[in-house]
Amino acid sequence: MEALRLGFDDCGISRADFLEFDSERLKTWLEKGYHAGLGYMERNKDKRTDPRKLVEGAKSVVSVIMNYFHSQNQQDHGAPVISKYYYGKDHHQVVKKRLSELLLFIRKMIPGSDGRVFTDSVPLLEKAFAARSGLGWIGKNSLLLTKKYGSFIYIGDLIVNIELEYDIPVKDHCGTCEKCIRACPTRALIGERILDLNRCISFHTIENKTDSMPENLRGLFRNRVFGCDICQDVCPWNRKLKSHAVEELNPHPDLLYMSNREWHSINRERFNELFKGSAVKRAKFEGLRRNLDFLAGS
Ligand code: SF4
Ligand code: SF4
Repeated sequence: MEALRLGFDDCGISRADFLEFDSERLKTWLEKGYHAGLGYMERNKDKRTDPRKLVEGAKSVVSVIMNYFHSQNQQDHGAPVISKYYYGKDHHQVVKKRLSELLLFIRKMIPGSDGRVFTDSVPLLEKAFAARSGLGWIGKNSLLLTKKYGSFIYIGDLIVNIELEYDIPVKDHCGTCEKCIRACPTRALIGERILDLNRCISFHTIENKTDSMPENLRGLFRNRVFGCDICQDVCPWNRKLKSHAVEELNPHPDLLYMSNREWHSINRERFNELFKGSAVKRAKFEGLRRNLDFLAGS
């Protein structure tokens, strides 16, 4: 299939309908303030759960996933830890480039077809649509979980104006497991599939654009400097994963070998070198420095 040839690991298709259940959940989540004041989560609520409000004439959502798992971890166990999500080049670009090629292919194959490409930079409940298209289920850590690729996966979508053959959702395979909920050091998973961003390390190290970090969580970050994989690392479905084979997703050769001292003495020049083309650059040098200082207790 073309999506696999382009480098995606799986692809599923769902009808471009209103997600009633997810819309209710999103509403409650926002009302309770679990989005930590993130403006973009509040905006375009309707578009998030209804692709027809995002793209005129939308009929189908083609969801794709790309494995970003890297079997090698950082060598200095005392060094600040960066999430695998950010090891390589900016995944928005990596996924978007391939999705655009997939759209071109569809347009060529089906006269009159058209659509738009989305990565997680737009208001669409990507995980919900991916689950609906049978790619996996939403785990209790609130991430999309697949049997074959676990949860270390990027998600992308094509919203197209044609009817396609739709896939069937898969069963939830979390069962009675609660490892992710118990492992979260800041107690950010406050229930099954309910994440309170106010307490989430990923949120604070990436999305929190203020100068201040949460004093009530000081000492609980387990040395996570950019993102946090703890609730994924403990998941049984992530135990036997194979590394991806996408060159652009490999880290800078030095990144996994940096010592604790090198991390804490990082300067702007080194930052630019290590994270050239990476999504970490969106947080800017100042953002990373703020996170390092917070970990160091200053
Ligand atoms: S990313 Fe980290 S802080 Fe956030 S829910 Fe998972 S384990 Fe908790
Ligand atoms: S750790 Fe257990 S409960 Fe959490 S997502 Fe994985 S299987 Fe589900």
